[in-house]
Amino acid sequence: MSTISLPVATTPSQEKSTKVGNYFVANYPPFGAWKPEDAPLLGDVLSRRPVPGAPLGIYAHIPFCRKRCHFCYFRVYTDKKSSEIRAYLAAMLRELDHYAKSDAFAGRKPLFVYFGGGTPSYLSIEQIRSLTDSMKAIVPWDAAQEVTFEAEPGTLQPGKLLALRDVGVTRLSLGIEHLDDAVLEANGRAHRSREVYGAYEAAKSANFSHINVDLIAGMLEETDERWRETVAKTLALAPDGVTIYQMEVPYNSAIYQRMKEAGTLNSPVADWETKRRWVAEAFQVFEAAGYTVVSATTLVKDPSKTYFYRQGLFNGTDLFSVGVSSFGYVNGVNYQNQHDFQPYLDRIDAGKLPTHRVYSLSDEERYIREFALQLKAGTLHLAPFAAKFGVDPRVQFGEVLSAWTRRGVASIQDGRIQLSREGLMQVDRLIFDLFLPQHRVGRFS
Ligand code: SF4
Repeated sequence: MSTISLPVATTPSQEKSTKVGNYFVANYPPFGAWKPEDAPLLGDVLSRRPVPGAPLGIYAHIPFCRKRCHFCYFRVYTDKKSSEIRAYLAAMLRELDHYAKSDAFAGRKPLFVYFGGGTPSYLSIEQIRSLTDSMKAIVPWDAAQEVTFEAEPGTLQPGKLLALRDVGVTRLSLGIEHLDDAVLEANGRAHRSREVYGAYEAAKSANFSHINVDLIAGMLEETDERWRETVAKTLALAPDGVTIYQMEVPYNSAIYQRMKEAGTLNSPVADWETKRRWVAEAFQVFEAAGYTVVSATTLVKDPSKTYFYRQGLFNGTDLFSVGVSSFGYVNGVNYQNQHDFQPYLDRIDAGKLPTHRVYSLSDEERYIREFALQLKAGTLHLAPFAAKFGVDPRVQFGEVLSAWTRRGVASIQDGRIQLSREGLMQVDRLIFDLFLPQHRVGRFS
């Protein structure tokens, strides 16, 4: 389950039922605004020095999976031979090398490194070692506060987990999604609960600094009872962190295909109110056990020990992303790479950037992007934000903030904006109110 490749919500819909489209917002403006004709702008920004002191992260996209989940809309491949995977990894390294030599990179060391997908743990031990050795030779990781590796439980064996820890992975992100086998089966997941428990025990033995577990509320065949049981079983595992997404029905997913074939717009997924209730209940269970809420999706056992890559993304960190269809952000410019395997390789082979589309943000759009993304943490401190941008959010977004306060989804006190739990549970919908009018409609994926 990929969590960092920056999907953005589809519409500011106030619909109660789960309609087709993405809900989760992780970037601004929406992808529909990014233009292939602006792709050369990435070359321009790469030739400019960064803002002094600006932090930087690396994202590597591994687009391979054992099986395609029914809700998945990512560009993933289930049929690539090892020679093709080798060629892909080599291309990614060439892309990283190009960025690392740019003026925009400026010799900075990454604050975080993130392997997302797809399923990064689909790679063999040899591929993992060779890839990470080569990456470190291009960009040393010794200053990274977090190195995350996404993993599907059925791909993990003890030897692979030890290799991951040895190469420097600090945060293992386990895409469990659910612990009921009937739900896993109904949603096309490749693993079953038995593999989850095996992988989890082995991961504990490997001593990662942080093990995070991903869940999804509202998968096909979800019920109150099954959800509560999954939450209780997840708590019993005692992970360092848990991330809970609300189920979407994206375009390009098998669920949407089935709906089209059946000639219906009614999705088989629970409505938003029910999903928000499930997430809120799970948050309560984990909070009662001592976990702290750090964003609309995530709780951790110990926030003082946790660096979370999304803090970087939310705060406008430069993100150099490599790999097919991956999303990056460099000094105010959003970019996405070619979204098909062979065109991506061909561009790299030709010595060209594999950029597919780009959006260069205005100052106002950068302001909106950071404000909206930071709100996903639930709390935003006004003074540092105003100092960074020179405009107080109470001035920029006065009307929206007043409306939110009246609705009880946010409050402003002690120099910060605080979302209520109700607000946090629907933040991806709320933040549409901040977007420029031209960015409030249209497809985002
Ligand atoms: S594990 Fe499933 S949801 Fe995640 S990227 Fe692969 S196919 Fe998509």
